[in-house]
Amino acid sequence: MCMKFVVPFDQGHADMKATLGGKGANLAEMTRVGLPVPPGFTVTTDVCRAYYALGGQLPDGVREEVASALRVLESSQGKQFGDPAKPLLVSVRSGSVTSMPGMMDTILNLGLNDETVAGLAALTGDARFAYDCYRRLIQMFGNVVFQIESHHFESQLSRLKQRLGVGQDSEVSAEGWQELIESYRSIVVKETGRPFPQDVREQLELAVEAVFRSWNNTRAQVYRKIHRIPDEQGTAVNIQAMVFGNLGADSGTGVLFTRNPSTGERRLYGEYLINAQGEDVVAGVRTPVPIEQLGADMPLVFDQLERTAAMLEKHYKDMQDIEFTVEQGALYLLQTRSGKRTAQAAVKVAVDMANEGLISRGDAVERIEPFHLDQLLHRAIDVDQALDVLASGLPASPGAATGEAVFDADLAEAWSRAGRKTILVRSETTPEDIHGVLAAEGVLTSRGGMTSHAAVVARGMGKPCVCGCEAVRIEDRSFVVHAGGEFVTIREGDTISIDGSTGRVIRGGVNLREPELTEELQQLLRWADDIRTLQVYTNADTPEDAAKARDFGAEGIGLCRTEHMFMSAARVPVVQAMILADSAEERAEALEKLLPMQQQDFEGLFRAMDGLTVTIRLLDPPLHEFLPNMEQLVLQHERLRNDPNASSEEIDRNEKLLRKVRSLHEMNPMLGTRGCRLGLVLPEIYEMQADAIFRAVVRCLEEGIDVRPDIMIPLVGHANELIRMRELVTKRAEAILGDKAATFPYHVGTMIEVPRAAITAAQIAKHADFFSFGTNDLTQMTFGYSRDDAEGKFLAHYVETKLLPENPFQVLDEDGVGRLIEWAVEQGKAVKPLLKTGICGEHGGDKSSIFFCHAAGLDYVSCSPYRVPLARIAAAQAQL
Ligand code: PEP
Ligand code: MG
Repeated sequence: MCMKFVVPFDQGHADMKATLGGKGANLAEMTRVGLPVPPGFTVTTDVCRAYYALGGQLPDGVREEVASALRVLESSQGKQFGDPAKPLLVSVRSGSVTSMPGMMDTILNLGLNDETVAGLAALTGDARFAYDCYRRLIQMFGNVVFQIESHHFESQLSRLKQRLGVGQDSEVSAEGWQELIESYRSIVVKETGRPFPQDVREQLELAVEAVFRSWNNTRAQVYRKIHRIPDEQGTAVNIQAMVFGNLGADSGTGVLFTRNPSTGERRLYGEYLINAQGEDVVAGVRTPVPIEQLGADMPLVFDQLERTAAMLEKHYKDMQDIEFTVEQGALYLLQTRSGKRTAQAAVKVAVDMANEGLISRGDAVERIEPFHLDQLLHRAIDVDQALDVLASGLPASPGAATGEAVFDADLAEAWSRAGRKTILVRSETTPEDIHGVLAAEGVLTSRGGMTSHAAVVARGMGKPCVCGCEAVRIEDRSFVVHAGGEFVTIREGDTISIDGSTGRVIRGGVNLREPELTEELQQLLRWADDIRTLQVYTNADTPEDAAKARDFGAEGIGLCRTEHMFMSAARVPVVQAMILADSAEERAEALEKLLPMQQQDFEGLFRAMDGLTVTIRLLDPPLHEFLPNMEQLVLQHERLRNDPNASSEEIDRNEKLLRKVRSLHEMNPMLGTRGCRLGLVLPEIYEMQADAIFRAVVRCLEEGIDVRPDIMIPLVGHANELIRMRELVTKRAEAILGDKAATFPYHVGTMIEVPRAAITAAQIAKHADFFSFGTNDLTQMTFGYSRDDAEGKFLAHYVETKLLPENPFQVLDEDGVGRLIEWAVEQGKAVKPLLKTGICGEHGGDKSSIFFCHAAGLDYVSCSPYRVPLARIAAAQAQL
């Protein structure tokens, strides 16, 4: 393949994202349609890949191509790179294929040195401006190329401003900047042992390489991992003639969304700063003003911006995120891309655009990232409670969260690992904090706007975030805020809450309200329902969960794990008595007590799912799970024996329990006496469960409820197991339903979760009305990985080192487990064409696994209630 090293903006277009990166392709596209874009060129992603393949070296020929593209740029601008009289300055910006806001590096004002800075001052007649540009370059260059931490520069700047007695950067004079430049130079020498390079071509080469290296910085790697962006994509580098937003009061720079990225409302949304360069806005260093203000400050520019925004949205058929600069009254576009948005906004924008006729309903459904729907199901603060509101900031990412205040990202991560919930509090977040944002429940910053890194990253992750809360004064591991007439100090570990939907910061914990489906989401889900053929069931064990799932659109219960019904405090003693019984009579007595409880459970489910299938799985886990832990019993035994006050009955009881627990102990319980094996060895339990189901059926039929039970036998590996279990169920049905048993429509099916069951599906299907793939166990047994231990022991390492592409317990392993499913469906349907097939393992709520289930011809997926909307969307996308 012929490698392209450099592509000028006027020779590319929007479809060249793979080589030009998103930013490069869009700059080219905007140039193509005649928008005011400063000219430039893109060094392609091919070069980035080659750079890494060569162990961190630019391939031969790149320097020459860059030099010749630069010559073209020079002549178009009538300026020379490095010319003291008329210096051309350029920006060097990263631009990956998939947008990764703020994760990689950018350098502005490249081409300045001790001579050209004087030239720029003379050319613009503004020395203050020229030296301002130069100090920014040294800082950015030092930071990006030489990896000098920003705080070295920031502290010098703060010190200077303090000494000059000024609050704003714009108040610093030319002499002030010159002084700062001197101290910046010393920082560079001190930190790197070399001076800031005066050769502008060397600057450019070092900058390009640094941007390539930034593809592999930690924050970019973390971001790629979260968003599943392939490491091989690489980044392009855009080299573009500078335009200046810091050339006085008729200049400025800003970021604009064509619709509100938090709510989706159709109105320009953004912020800008007068007399500033782009980094000031996105880095959150200065808090910008709302875009509406531009209408008052520069009405003509605002008007042009509004028209351009509308045009770009129409052109790309999507909400755009636009970066612009105004240089002495002239508008320039520096970037457009499809705007990152909250799930709520994504849904509203998609539905609105379909209703506006801009896109089709299918497009609208396809636009939604199913995983983001989790965000919509975020909690809010319950209205019925008194809140101790400390301050208000910008509502940067919706949802509410409570946690312990923590002031650095590493600690947030450490506490989260220890199971503690935290709110990460920072003056501003930099992309280095991304692991802390990931670990925390929510983020609070005292500085920065809605488009600062903290806001963008939190929105992308669906974490609540309050930004720019300037009332909060952060000190070392605490913050102080003036609220209700007093100074309140919040220290590390104190509980606070934030409301990312309103911007409130609250002292203490709050009651959270469960989310509701918005009108737009319901609309979108209805469109998805019109498209999809795959049905969506839910895994639910209680009437409350069933009702919630039904509200979310579940079309049945695909898995009721009946063991969960045994685990309430009131029932455990009865279940234990049943297990510990010495005789059949004793066991029957305990089961007799459990029967009405189970019957009530099933009635509740049938009522909640009136008219829909309820798949009830008979008891699955090994019995020892209902008994106390063996090690604890041994300890207790020792203690009682040495306790002179312990009664002999007490000791006997403990001994008996210990004996029973020992007798039930298995080396490999997940491969032991569980599922149908238990049903075969101790049929009384399954008989009681079948009785409870059919009694509940009788009761509900009397109430006029449309009852549709499917009885599911777990862990079948041999057809004979199912034959016996089916007989048991049929007998109980006849015993309870009498004559009606022959006509009442109930089904008996099996889970397919043992590889042998999948392989012998043709034999099993003869005796099954349905197959439900239990992909948790099927994955466990196909890989031979313990589902309870693998993750912590070696699986995380496997995924980390890319030995496996994904955790197979989260994303279905199509090559192995998937082949077994396809085989079982094919074999089963060959025997019984109308065999109903579905999946009820965790994979039923994962997008790519749902795509697989659709392709494999399953009838339904079953997932937890909160994932039902996600599954409806994914099922429709699989169809499109
Ligand atoms: C499964 O194995 O996929 C399943 C749904 O059953 P459980 O997780 O209860 O073992
Ligand atoms: Mg299972």
